[in-house]
Amino acid sequence: MRNKNKRSLLLGNEALARGLCENGCQMATAYPGTPASEILPAVAAHKRSEGLESLHVQWAINEKVAFEIAYTASIAGLRSAVAMKQVGLNVASDPFMSGAYLGVKGGFLVISADDPGPHSSQTEQDSRLYAMSAKVPVLDPDSPEQAREMVGMGFRLSESFEIPVMVRPTTRVCHARQDLALKEISPGKVEANFEKNPGRWAATPKFRLQLHKELEAKLGEIASWAETAPLRLNPDSGSPERAIVVSGVSCAHARDIMTDLGLTDKVALYQVLQPYPLHTAFMTDILERHTEILVLEETRGVIEMQLARRDKVRGKESGHVPQTGELLPEIIETIIADFAGVNSSACMLEPVPGRRPTLCPGCPHRASFFAIKKAAPRGIYTSDIGCYTLGMNLMAVDTVLCMGAAISQAAGFAHAYSDEKRPPIVATIGDSTFFHAGIPPLIDAKVQRAPIVVVILDNRTTAMTGNQPTPATGVDILGCEVNSVDIEMLVRGCGINHCRTVDPMDTKGFIKELKEAMLLSKIEGPCVMISRSPCVLNLSRQEQADQYKKIRVTDDCDGCGYCVSHFECPALVLDSENQRVDIDVSLCTGCGVCVSVCPKGSIV
Ligand code: SF4
Ligand code: SF4
Repeated sequence: MRNKNKRSLLLGNEALARGLCENGCQMATAYPGTPASEILPAVAAHKRSEGLESLHVQWAINEKVAFEIAYTASIAGLRSAVAMKQVGLNVASDPFMSGAYLGVKGGFLVISADDPGPHSSQTEQDSRLYAMSAKVPVLDPDSPEQAREMVGMGFRLSESFEIPVMVRPTTRVCHARQDLALKEISPGKVEANFEKNPGRWAATPKFRLQLHKELEAKLGEIASWAETAPLRLNPDSGSPERAIVVSGVSCAHARDIMTDLGLTDKVALYQVLQPYPLHTAFMTDILERHTEILVLEETRGVIEMQLARRDKVRGKESGHVPQTGELLPEIIETIIADFAGVNSSACMLEPVPGRRPTLCPGCPHRASFFAIKKAAPRGIYTSDIGCYTLGMNLMAVDTVLCMGAAISQAAGFAHAYSDEKRPPIVATIGDSTFFHAGIPPLIDAKVQRAPIVVVILDNRTTAMTGNQPTPATGVDILGCEVNSVDIEMLVRGCGINHCRTVDPMDTKGFIKELKEAMLLSKIEGPCVMISRSPCVLNLSRQEQADQYKKIRVTDDCDGCGYCVSHFECPALVLDSENQRVDIDVSLCTGCGVCVSVCPKGSIV
């Protein structure tokens, strides 16, 4: 038997991927997004190393498309999964809601990774609330090992009730490492066999009502499904007055804290594996058995809301547990100690002020932002989700709403201002984000003749989440050659006449092109600049060497600080004592853009 007695230290996301491959998953799709980005590459690594011919793995253009591809494999009978971060579920929410009604055939998992904190997201939203809204069962792992186990559990649940199942890890589970005993990789062997049934798979509103009734009936049964029933973690403590109900990573913290505070035999501790639908018998039992119940869960009070007894239950909705931020161990310890009436030595750690995040040395986005500021110094700059959001440090990003909104917000400003008072409006959007959600707003802007300039920051990769390929890259997740989509042709296909591909490292040339586009946009509507230069983190050693220019600061530098404050390359270091700027050669990539930044020509 392969992998017998083998152990491995796995990241939570790798454990989820392992679980998919140990349980015969035949289709895995995703759009990258922290904290979920490592799941799909780990699945792809298993496909390569184990030769899993029957497993299709792919990045999709966005989460909605990823969902629909994997869901469809499921209705053809295959076990399948889609992975995304929690805000990605907003994008996939349309098929998610509908898929719950239609149901599935092969087991279908929606892995939606939440980011309490948030560490790298726009919101702290709780995917479990989406599951409640869609009427989809959700499993909430406390560790990498449990995440792996919940993949198998989720497939069984999904197939038993023909329903999509959500697995909802949080950042602390996704990015924790745990030593796991490996189980055998099990290649899926199901042949796709779509059984036509338009009454179900293409149901009209009349039949949807029936499907909704069936969904309700499924949920009733799932609320008593033995495999996902809550666990009593300290059964020897009997029926004390107080009980704590935990879910997700809060369980791991609470177990340790209960031991440290000597509460293991004084307060009952229950772990909820399936926060929705909460098991009916469990709800009745704990409400009868205990007089005070504390619920610890992230990020909203999903379990607490279902317990629905404000006189007995404390949690986020009652105000006893913070509604925002992560439930860190020191916070949980204070809450548990207060609940149990014991002393705690937990001290709240003051957050250490971190270094302000900034674009990398040599990053082409910095050069683009510098040119935009020069070409339109009094402009409004709408932007988007990606590492280029850091352009706000350069005062070149005024708005960031959600994926793709740079272009629609630019159009919104353009339509809001009168012709006489309208400032120049420049939208910046990354290449991957443009493919994800930028195309519909660009078409809309064209139709409405919005006088805007759109700069597509084309660094040939999805940089912020780990340099995944984009549809323009021509390489898939396995490193195999695939078709690629030409961004300029795509832009022209959206009806844009004025589309230029420019090199942001040529500052003067780019400024000239931007000025022309701004004038033209007043007449014919949106103009597009594709600012193309590869991400410095994606350059080979040879490419780095080829682009390297030896840069130095002359003695004419008077230390005015303009280059540091307006360009902010980390390799430019202000020496206040000697009133000059120096170049940190350990950081400098030799891109040479700073040469055109110093107004006095002191960088050569
Ligand atoms: S290099 Fe130029 S811009 Fe930078 S501090 Fe010196 S004089 Fe000022
Ligand atoms: S050449 Fe200038 S802009 Fe480029 S990395 Fe070096 S210091 Fe920064």
